[in-house]
Amino acid sequence: MDDPLFGFCRDCLTSQRSAARRCHACGTPRLLRHAELYQLAIAHIDCDAFYAAVEKRDNPELRDKPVIIGGGKRGVVSTACYIARIHGVRSAMPMFKALEACPQAVVVKPDMEKYVKVGREIRLMMLELTPLVEPISIDEAFLDLKGTEKLHRDSPARVLARFAKRIEDEVGITISVGLSYCKFLAKIASDFEKPRGFSVIGEREAVAFLRDKPVTMIWGVGKAFAATLEGNGIRAIGQLQDMDESTLMKAYGLMGQRLYRLSRGLDTRRVEPEGEMKSVSAETTFNTDLSEASDLVPILRSLSEKVSRRLKAGNIAGRTVVLKLKTQDFKSRTRNRQLADPTQLADRIFRTGLHLLEKELDGTKFRLIGIGVSDLSDAARADPADLVDTQATKRAATERAIDRLRTKFGNKAVETGYTFGTGRRESEQ
Ligand SMILES: [Mg+2]
Repeated sequence: MDDPLFGFCRDCLTSQRSAARRCHACGTPRLLRHAELYQLAIAHIDCDAFYAAVEKRDNPELRDKPVIIGGGKRGVVSTACYIARIHGVRSAMPMFKALEACPQAVVVKPDMEKYVKVGREIRLMMLELTPLVEPISIDEAFLDLKGTEKLHRDSPARVLARFAKRIEDEVGITISVGLSYCKFLAKIASDFEKPRGFSVIGEREAVAFLRDKPVTMIWGVGKAFAATLEGNGIRAIGQLQDMDESTLMKAYGLMGQRLYRLSRGLDTRRVEPEGEMKSVSAETTFNTDLSEASDLVPILRSLSEKVSRRLKAGNIAGRTVVLKLKTQDFKSRTRNRQLADPTQLADRIFRTGLHLLEKELDGTKFRLIGIGVSDLSDAARADPADLVDTQATKRAATERAIDRLRTKFGNKAVETGYTFGTGRRESEQ
């Protein structure tokens, strides 16, 4: 059981005990061996360069080219494929910089609706492995496979390897898997040998494994907090391992407790299935900064429609409407409002967003506007008929009629008064 030479081949799934570099059955080097391989059951699955992979799948001409998903002069890179990454392109990099690094890159505008659909398809396949799936974003999730051996008549490790193959065959993209005994290390493991990776971190090696790693690997340690730690001479996780809990808590409060625990590989957080996607939103960076209602309102309307389309496609609804603005000098303003019932209607999202926006229009110039909903739930209880505001009920009915037309004739078939003629103004990301 605890034999470090015992494992299986990720390609042909043949079990084997050997120290050889290649599989004795199919000859590939993709052997998975680990002393705790068959005791670990918490996995983190992350799709490899997800948006770019979906675009390459759908357009084989892009396959061997550097592809950047993003857009607009002032936009940023949303995803870079692995070829573009070799040229130094990274996500969140300003587009002009990315194109300086890789001028031959093919830039593709993101098609969120498509990615949401593929993400959902993969999510449903994950749910065939275990009901304990906790999505972190559109393309990554934690899975708890404890106790599923009977159901699958196989170990979590082998079930996950088979799953990776299935995603490649049936969805046409690749994933990386991290397998461990807790979420913290499963997530670190999935990032280890991307793309098409499968890494294992066992309980017995955790402390030694973490010892020389940077503190930024710890969940919640961002740039600012890492700088604080560095100011106190702490860079490696091993230094935290040598400190006691009360010292760390005195210095950093609750975060100190987290540092103490995670640095030792102690993480008892459970995989929470109800966590679903936390919000659905859409945003736009402008080519020139805007301050006028007449400019901002039509954009807000078209973004609301986009959010609504995603909600409807995913059969979900949100109860809190969130408006996001970024000023000329890069300051963020986030405003939100909770509704009586969850909604998936563009009209309701837009009107609530408009109410929030009006209070912000004080001459400030904005470079970005975004709208979204959080508090997501199933669409079943969304948008009950409004008994007080009969106009709202009427507008909801109109919107559903427009949706049916759009499903039939395409999104551009029906434009509302707010968005008519504004289609080309924005650069979207
Ligand atoms: Mg990913």
